[in-house]
Amino acid sequence: MSLVLTHIKQLVLAEKEPRPRVAGEEMGTLPVLNDAYLWLEDGRIKAFGAMKDLPSTEGVEVMDVSGRLVLPSYVDSHTHLIFPAWREGEFVDKIKGLSYAEIAAKGGGILNSARALAETSVEELVERALPRLWEVIGFGTGGIEIKSGYGLSVEGELKMLRAIRKLKEYSPIPIKATFLGAHALPKEYTGQRRKYIDLILKEMLPQIAEEGLADYCDVFCEEGFFTEAETVEICEAGINAGLKAKIHANQLNRSGGVQAGVKVGAVSVDHLETMGPEEIRALQKAQTIATLLPGCSLFLRMQYPPARDLIRAGIPVALATDYNPGSAPAGKMSLVMSLACIQMRMTPEEALWAATLNGAAALEWQNELGTIAVGKRANVFVTKEIPSYAHIPYAFGSDAIETVILNGEVWQVPT
Ligand SMILES: [Zn+2]
Repeated sequence: MSLVLTHIKQLVLAEKEPRPRVAGEEMGTLPVLNDAYLWLEDGRIKAFGAMKDLPSTEGVEVMDVSGRLVLPSYVDSHTHLIFPAWREGEFVDKIKGLSYAEIAAKGGGILNSARALAETSVEELVERALPRLWEVIGFGTGGIEIKSGYGLSVEGELKMLRAIRKLKEYSPIPIKATFLGAHALPKEYTGQRRKYIDLILKEMLPQIAEEGLADYCDVFCEEGFFTEAETVEICEAGINAGLKAKIHANQLNRSGGVQAGVKVGAVSVDHLETMGPEEIRALQKAQTIATLLPGCSLFLRMQYPPARDLIRAGIPVALATDYNPGSAPAGKMSLVMSLACIQMRMTPEEALWAATLNGAAALEWQNELGTIAVGKRANVFVTKEIPSYAHIPYAFGSDAIETVILNGEVWQVPT
């Protein structure tokens, strides 16, 4: 089955020679083809080029997209899309001035989600996550990562990962699963950190590996959560179980999360709001992607990560939503790009690379998603009639997308 998009005003991020990721100055330029066509066949990108070189389309479905741009789907490499319930009560508490500690004392925070999760079945988790998945696909996301981390017990973590596996059966976009048992210390383990870490190492990880439930192992490396040494220990155990590392690093403090990530060869270190020269130097020597989550800074009214310093240092930067009920209840990648441009001074070109190819690289999907390249999965979107790609992060309240195409076919929300 073929679908050919013709008269594309700008085919953005189209690469003849695909790169695995981009970093530094390279992020400043986007490959763009004007007045182009894009040929999709059997779920893959078959060809693209200038309209004047379009081969015969006889017998093939053609969609004239005059005046519109075509881009590869976004890749959202950091989300907590599976959760039992929203937490807008805490949002209101925060507006009224309650501190994080006061909200936690009222039963809020990650432990709030953990409590609700215990009372929610796999089927209910999937049922509640599906509308969120349809929503983010409509926003242009064509590949996504989802974490566990609200279970905080053997049963709860397995339940979340099984819900992610079930969600894959319904999803037209690929999903990677990350085990985040080390998200917080459960209340019942207060004063018994070692016991909970042993539970992760000796009970959760072996079972997850046996059932093939996760692709990555993540740790929330932060003061009051897990230390640098504990992060290394948990990640190494994950690696032994076949799960590469991804780390929640340096959100609130210079926690050693970046150094831990570099030490264990993490695919990505995520957050990075609190960085110093040592952390940047460590990343310069590594293959690790720096994933920034500015939606979280907006929502928590906290500092933004130093994107310019990272790009200047030649580190590949990715952008993701961190979609979750506590600190970033939004899964819209274009909004994340707007924040990256407005608050972190990334250019639209840098933001687009970060939201596509570098996000794909943060999930080891660089050969599958992230740019328009022959052989990659045919997940793309067609914009409305907009003047240029810079309009997408610029018009931060608008939705630039007109048509979502997944696996080579026009997608519509299932009814
Ligand atoms: Zn997160």
